[in-house]
Amino acid sequence: MALRNKALPCDDLSSTPTLNAQRKVEEEILSNYQAFLQQHGSSAEAGSGDGAPIPAPTFDVSNMKAFLRNSMFRPMSSAFSSLDGSRAWITFWCTQAGALANITNFDARSIMDFLRLSQHPDGGFGGGPGLLAHLAPTYAAVATLVNLNREGVFEDDEPLRLIDRESLYRWLMSLKTPEGSFAVHHDGECDVRGSYLALSVAQMTNILTPELLEGAVDWIAQCQTYEGGLAGRPGLEAHGGYTYCGVAALACVGAIGALDIDALTYWALQRQMSLEGGFQGRTNKLVDSCYSFWCGAVLALLSGTTRSVMAAETSASLASHMDPILFDRASLLDYLFVQCYDASGGGFKDKPSSRLDAYHTCYSLSGVSVAHSVDDLPSQSGLERPLAFDPVKVPPFLQHVTGDGAGTGATPFKYPVIYRGRSRDLALLSSTNAIFNIERNQCRKGLEFFRSLGNPMM
Ligand SMILES: [Zn+2]
Repeated sequence: MALRNKALPCDDLSSTPTLNAQRKVEEEILSNYQAFLQQHGSSAEAGSGDGAPIPAPTFDVSNMKAFLRNSMFRPMSSAFSSLDGSRAWITFWCTQAGALANITNFDARSIMDFLRLSQHPDGGFGGGPGLLAHLAPTYAAVATLVNLNREGVFEDDEPLRLIDRESLYRWLMSLKTPEGSFAVHHDGECDVRGSYLALSVAQMTNILTPELLEGAVDWIAQCQTYEGGLAGRPGLEAHGGYTYCGVAALACVGAIGALDIDALTYWALQRQMSLEGGFQGRTNKLVDSCYSFWCGAVLALLSGTTRSVMAAETSASLASHMDPILFDRASLLDYLFVQCYDASGGGFKDKPSSRLDAYHTCYSLSGVSVAHSVDDLPSQSGLERPLAFDPVKVPPFLQHVTGDGAGTGATPFKYPVIYRGRSRDLALLSSTNAIFNIERNQCRKGLEFFRSLGNPMM
């Protein structure tokens, strides 16, 4: 948190609408940080310079359950009618945020029944009952069912068994294009979101085949731009959400090495804002809490590669003390807890001047999780590029998360948020799997369940 009586980062630049918006956000955020220090009785005077002791904010989740329940179950006004096709997404945002905050006692059966009705008879899920199957709600439904499948709530993995894997596979194949991308629905747009959604769902439910993967890795690699991040399609502008989709899709099949890792790492690090502490999604855009996950997870997914580079280029003892998560974790947590968290409302906002919402609550908490995570992938995963998908060889991340291979399998599943060396007053959170963005314990259970069934398409 840089509190200096100096010019703001964009003060010396000329005036444009973009810069004026940036200046307005910087002024608001600086004023909030100064008010926070004064309110919390920091021994240092606000604005006294770098290195001042900064108090840890409290993180009280007591109002979060009500907020998440209301977001899922309370009828919305007509102003939100455009969200009708996004109801599966809303269940995902709320159940994932709840899983990370250890709030799990929702009405899980009614959520499962809603998703059952949203499954399309020809495969995949729509945003609600009777709607067209679309890759986004399909991912959301699968991830939600994996998060909901808790012992004591369901027997015999009931939420996972409702997924019709054979029709899902046929539908995914019907979305494939000759160039190796996926349309998000029949006659829909093709971009790197489609690649992530299709490959992550197929990997989770164990229906991935060489035919489904054919051409996908090369097409995703073509989306990397001259800046280093990934665009939605080849030739467009790099963007945090698309970059996450491309990187996580490749990580999902053990092929991160298809990208220029140095350029990608540089681009992702440049997205963390110098004053705000949070991430922006694109060059010259404003900070936004959801990119805590979209950009933070990219750097978490690269941590295995970063660690192996550190080990190769320094001594082993020095490498063991270096942080493979290269972004400034403390400043990201400053942004999320001081600027975006609304304790009375029970959720997170995009930025201080915004309203809180379920989407930003989900991805802010997921960002808190990736700021604490290391070893999302074993070190060799970023350096390999399989020329052809080998269905027999278990991808490195699966060895890691299922603990049946070379991975350590020793990641703690619940942890206190460590904030500038202090954990007092902060909640105990669960962590997320950065590839699937599903609570890590539930993700492991889901992967193991579908592997126990075998791959019906092989
Ligand atoms: Zn956002």
